Amino acid sequence: MLNSSVRHLTAQACLQDVFGYSSFRGEQQDIVEHVVAGGDALVLMPTGGGKSLCYQLPALLRKGVGVVVSPLIALMQDQVDALKQLGVKAAFLNSSLNAEAFSEVTAALLRGELQVLYVAPERLLMPNFLTLLEQIEDSIGIALFAIDEAHCVSQWGHDFRPEYRKLTVLHEHFPRIPRIALTATADAPTRAEIIERLALEKARQFISSFDRPNIKYRVLAKANARQQLEAFIESEHPNDAGIIYCLSRRKVEETAEWLKAKGWDALPYHAGLDADIRNTHQKRFLREEGVIMVATVAFGMGIDKPNVRFVAHLDLPKSMEGYYQETGRAGRDGLPANAWMTYGLGDVVNMKQMLENSDAPAERQHVERQKLDALLGFCESTACRHQTILRYFGEQHPGDCGQCDNCLTPTDTWDGTQAAQMALSCVYRTGQRFGVVHLIDVLLGKPNPKVTQFNHHELSTFGIGKGLSQTQWSSVFRQLVAGGYLETDMDAFGGLRLTEAARPVLRSEVMIWLRQDLEAPKRVSKVERSARVKEAYAGVADDPLWQALKAKRTELAKEQGVPPYLIFHDSTLLEILNHRPGSLTEMSKISGIGQAKLTRYGDAFLEVLEG
Ligand code: ADP
Ligand code: ZN
Repeated sequence: MLNSSVRHLTAQACLQDVFGYSSFRGEQQDIVEHVVAGGDALVLMPTGGGKSLCYQLPALLRKGVGVVVSPLIALMQDQVDALKQLGVKAAFLNSSLNAEAFSEVTAALLRGELQVLYVAPERLLMPNFLTLLEQIEDSIGIALFAIDEAHCVSQWGHDFRPEYRKLTVLHEHFPRIPRIALTATADAPTRAEIIERLALEKARQFISSFDRPNIKYRVLAKANARQQLEAFIESEHPNDAGIIYCLSRRKVEETAEWLKAKGWDALPYHAGLDADIRNTHQKRFLREEGVIMVATVAFGMGIDKPNVRFVAHLDLPKSMEGYYQETGRAGRDGLPANAWMTYGLGDVVNMKQMLENSDAPAERQHVERQKLDALLGFCESTACRHQTILRYFGEQHPGDCGQCDNCLTPTDTWDGTQAAQMALSCVYRTGQRFGVVHLIDVLLGKPNPKVTQFNHHELSTFGIGKGLSQTQWSSVFRQLVAGGYLETDMDAFGGLRLTEAARPVLRSEVMIWLRQDLEAPKRVSKVERSARVKEAYAGVADDPLWQALKAKRTELAKEQGVPPYLIFHDSTLLEILNHRPGSLTEMSKISGIGQAKLTRYGDAFLEVLEG
């Protein structure tokens, strides 16, 4: 069968024949060769970097079946479907199978008919399953164990899976079979934990660059978040799939409702929804084109939909790690994608409040505060976003990416020392217990009932801030809180008070530079909109041939009940459009078209091209 015919192929030939790719990406080739030769590997690669190939190819090239441990039951079906599209014999075993389907897979496994088997960790750890694996090892062989989403061993991450810690049994039971652990989580502590918990001390480490050059990062000062969001989607992603992250379940539902009412195809997703609803929504997001998922962070791990064109944050993520993981779900296919966030003082206060109120141990709280501060620093930074992100993960980037907000429209900074002093002394003179709305009223000299009640019109700071607008003051306060000069006092209902860092500012010992927030964008005109849409779609959105190719893809996908991107990725479809292959031979040169897909779909797409 395929198993044996594939085995004598080199990695390179298999890459072309099965996957339809002409060259390896990054470290893929080294990783594949290392594992094929029987070595253990720890692979750190950003989302979209091409991790799956790193275990799928060796599984095809080595004797026996490759066993892939994955925590993502809901996605196994799609992963298996994707492999089947490539002509690879794949199956999965998890709790979603009934007894009959289960024994069918087991039987196929024992007959040596499977090349790749996905297994949920709890299944793998069952004693009788381990016995079955031993039997397999003795008969047809086990090509490798792949441990996907390996960061699930880490207790600190929000994806922690206790069963992952028991996966050392693999090493104990099958010491000769290579193991490859993979994750997109970049930080050093998690990496150390993976190595220790999975006993991978001897594994070779493959650490890729975490840069995502095709993602355009943008952080906006929050004005009217919904309006800002709508303007963004309308002008840049009117037909695209995207994810909108919110902090709370309630906000997820409200935002999804609001978008739906506005005519967008938006769905909510959070851990409080029924499993059925979650599944349906996830399926629609994966299988249909242009669905917008409004979600908490409960959504996203392992979502391998390649053509998510934007990820928007309506609330602050918890950390740079979280931000990078969440935005990383955009543009896996390498085509341009947007990471968009709107953020304001309220978000900073909220996040700080959440940390303050958490009952995590003091040490943990300290770490989380630092993580939040790093994220706030990123938001307020005027430097290249790619550079700032990568520096956080310990990687160099030359900056000037030419596509993040700060590179495209360099943000001016201004000497905000005097404004900061006014703001800080206003906080001080009003007794360090008022919120920002009141403080700005005092600075602007606006009489309000509280001003009268507390005699704030008699203060020296009353009305001294008339040189700046309300919006500018709110930007000053946000930056002072983000910069740690002010903190919120939870006992005083979130009133602001000075921190130690405020002293030298008030004494004029340090200067404060603030970023000049851009004014909120006005609504874009139709003309401008279509120009921008064209850019986002690489100029093909209105091309009738592109529409026809997409329609064919949808038709084929529907016939088989699989997501359209399992037939061809957008990038493959774009290449077909741009190169217009005239024969099957020419078609086979398109990236993403291997033997199996050429045979199954080549003619159908040639017909579309012939019109
Ligand atoms: P990850 O699991 O690291 O997020 P995937 O394995 O899903 O990434 O791969 C991301 C995308 O890149 C997929 O669409 C995959 O088909 C594509 N890809 C992977 N390797 C290559 C390659 N060598 N050449 C072209 N495309 C590739
Ligand atoms: Zn940049």
